[in-house]
Amino acid sequence: MDLTLTPQEESFRAAAREWLEAHAPAKPLPSLDTKDGFEAHRAWEHELHAGGWAVVSWPEEYGGKSASLVEWLLFEEEYYRVGAPRRVGQNGIFLLAPTIFEFGSQEQQKRILPRMANGDDIWSQAWSEPGAGSDLAAIRSTATKVDGGWVLNGQKTWSTRAVFADWAFGLFRSDPEAPRHSGLTYYLFPLSAKGVTVRPIRQLDGEAGFAEVFCDDVFVPDQDVLGVPGSGWKVAMSTTGSERGLTLRSPGRFLAAADRLAALARRQGSSVDPTLRADVAQAWIDAEAYRLYTFGTVGRMLEGASVGAESSLNKLYWSELDIDITQTALRLLGPRGVLGADAPDAEGQWLADFLFALAGPIYAGTNEIQRNVVAERVLKLPKGA
Ligand SMILES: Cc1cc2nc3c(=O)[nH]c(=O)nc-3n(C[C@H](O)[C@H](O)[C@H](O)COP(=O)(O)OP(=O)(O)OC[C@H]3O[C@@H](n4cnc5c(N)ncnc54)[C@H](O)[C@@H]3O)c2cc1C
Repeated sequence: MDLTLTPQEESFRAAAREWLEAHAPAKPLPSLDTKDGFEAHRAWEHELHAGGWAVVSWPEEYGGKSASLVEWLLFEEEYYRVGAPRRVGQNGIFLLAPTIFEFGSQEQQKRILPRMANGDDIWSQAWSEPGAGSDLAAIRSTATKVDGGWVLNGQKTWSTRAVFADWAFGLFRSDPEAPRHSGLTYYLFPLSAKGVTVRPIRQLDGEAGFAEVFCDDVFVPDQDVLGVPGSGWKVAMSTTGSERGLTLRSPGRFLAAADRLAALARRQGSSVDPTLRADVAQAWIDAEAYRLYTFGTVGRMLEGASVGAESSLNKLYWSELDIDITQTALRLLGPRGVLGADAPDAEGQWLADFLFALAGPIYAGTNEIQRNVVAERVLKLPKGA
């Protein structure tokens, strides 16, 4: 792939940079796992949208700029470079929206996407259950057909942002007689619906980044089924393709972190142990390699290829890279690494970033499962016993 940017791509990048530098909050917003922080991040989504930068790759009629994949990657690089806030709408914008573009009816696209783009509706993913994580097809929550819609029952867990979010996209068993993968349907439902109980799960840091979602006779109208009833597995695999592949964790996030890591090492000067210096360089090289690999993927997609099982390779790479970068920063910082981000002598929020990075090999499908996918579907190795 020719990595020279076209004049149009260069000017797109410059416009994004100019807007973000003028508008990104100078100070970090409060944590988005608190009520105030969540709303502050929602207000940022409104601002991004008003500026035309919330969903750059979407068509203009839904609030986007019809940006190409390359332009989207450039926007992401600029976004992380200025240290703009985390995207509270990410599960909707990066996971659900590509699935709605692929499987949603025109009516659903028109009704759902604009409110998602401007931050009026923040979405959470309600798939995992206490007995269905890696083995997602083991879902036991049910959907029963009634006049004009469906009635949902059951328990979901680990639903990120569900404590304060507005809507959820969930997988439920709609046909208990069908084989496991063909008896599932994909539903969209408001978390304020009658019969929905959201129970926050507090983490070690005291904040509730997740929730359990209980459904007791929750009515969902037919218009809020995404895709054909019974085809929920196929629709869900489109969402996981986005989650593991291109959209959830773009290279910009890691390039910015690797640059901050290199800057931290530079500030420490020649006192840094040579092996640690080598690890800093390696982390920076790995982030750059992820960028080049992603441009390669985009190049193949522009020629009509789809990402498929290779998205598992991607997920393995970014989740392990995130740990390498943040762990190397903590090693550089030594005892200072445990200082909270607001402590007088602190150097950013490396500890919080490291703790979150540790979740990377678990969410979006665990890395053990991704290695199984790579072994069987990319390398075509025989299935394990
Ligand atoms: C930060 C974070 C955010 C999340 N957000 C959401 C969300 O928004 N919505 C949602 O629905 N879920 C969410 N999850 C849940 C996540 O999808 C599950 O934790 C994940 O799929 C693993 O499922 P589990 O926790 O039930 O573990 P299990 O499936 O019980 O796995 C336990 C261990 O066994 C290993 N294992 C299981 N099966 C195999 C196998 N066949 N071969 C090899 N090893 C295996 C796993 O890799 C893991 O190490 C989130 C999780 C995290 C950490």
